[in-house]
Amino acid sequence: MSVQPARLVYLDNNATTRADPRVVEAMLPYFSEYYGNPSSKYALGAHAGMAVKRAREQLQRLLGVEHAHELMFTSGGTESTNAAILAALEASPRRREIITSAVEHPAVLALCGWLEKTKGIRVHLIPVDRQGRLDIMAYRAALSDRVAAVSIMWANNETGVINPVVDLAELAKEHGALFHTDAVQAVGKLPIDLRSTAIDMLSLSGHKLHAPKGIGALYIRNGVRFKPQIKGGHQERGRRAGTENVPGIVGLGMAAELAAAHMADEDIRVRALRDRLEREIVERVEHCVAVGARAERLPNTSNIAFSFIESESIVMLLDRAGVAVSMGSACSTGSFEPSHVLVAMKVADDAVRGGVRFSLSRDTTDDDVDRALAVIPGVIARLREISPFCAEEGASMTLNRAHV
Ligand code: PLP
Repeated sequence: MSVQPARLVYLDNNATTRADPRVVEAMLPYFSEYYGNPSSKYALGAHAGMAVKRAREQLQRLLGVEHAHELMFTSGGTESTNAAILAALEASPRRREIITSAVEHPAVLALCGWLEKTKGIRVHLIPVDRQGRLDIMAYRAALSDRVAAVSIMWANNETGVINPVVDLAELAKEHGALFHTDAVQAVGKLPIDLRSTAIDMLSLSGHKLHAPKGIGALYIRNGVRFKPQIKGGHQERGRRAGTENVPGIVGLGMAAELAAAHMADEDIRVRALRDRLEREIVERVEHCVAVGARAERLPNTSNIAFSFIESESIVMLLDRAGVAVSMGSACSTGSFEPSHVLVAMKVADDAVRGGVRFSLSRDTTDDDVDRALAVIPGVIARLREISPFCAEEGASMTLNRAHV
């Protein structure tokens, strides 16, 4: 059985992207031809070592990093965010507080929850407004010399809303707190020049930018004290033990190079497709709202909350119609709780369970948008016909648009 219908319209690129064929091509020789261990002292090992060095430089250029060795390869976003926050706490043992936001990915929130419960670390969860923008007053108020680490995402995975992390890092610096940003959704979509910022650590993940899954990186600014979480060999300058995932690293390097080359053009093209998709859905479907649309957003993401129906059913019916989208965060699939991001944004009660994320990429075409638009209104109408919320006596189909 094929999992992928012949003409799947894939609009879930914030969950994962298709590896770019040029990425796959670059990786292939490192499985069976140049399969040496970069630590080995003979030519085959040195060849692999050179490939790792090249990839680090490709990533360095994408992120405007001053020294290539400030980049450490990891297994992905989750490992990077965990390593960053734990290292920041270890670097300043007398500081026992962390600042993060209410809309972070579980890769940050779950760790912070665990630190609070088991280590007695105080966690400040900074709220957001109805557009998903961070409450800067609350952020300023939480900063103090008790804060070891600030971890604020560059862009939100569910809504695409962008945080002013460059300014937030400056503020954190005034209090001597280390500033980490989960840039998993931003890297490859937004221009980043770390050299010119006060950001101390940045996490990224390959599979969100057309590299494979299981590879990522953590930027650690020169001078930041970093205690390794994984102990063993001396790879990655003793900061992350374990034989390097050479093919993955080569793939991430190529993905970084492609992102740098195409970012400006793709921003314009993908943004136009996203805007058309969003505009036409909101025009054609009653009682729905584009969440966070008034905030500064990633060019590829649209989150639309449909009143009176649940996102699980929308995702299932759209899948049957050959359109792949996601309900909030892909990582929380299986749970029937409304998305913590939409809850934090105070999306109206009748719509908070109906949030659907559409996320595009360089693979998305005009035809994909047309085909999605051809089925979405019908799917929503069908679900509303059978929705207990719509059938309830006296149910008013009036939407509280206060959060628009
Ligand atoms: N942070 C954000 C914002 C994400 O969107 C994701 C993945 O969805 C992660 C972290 C986790 O990254 P990874 O899947 O590479 O562990």
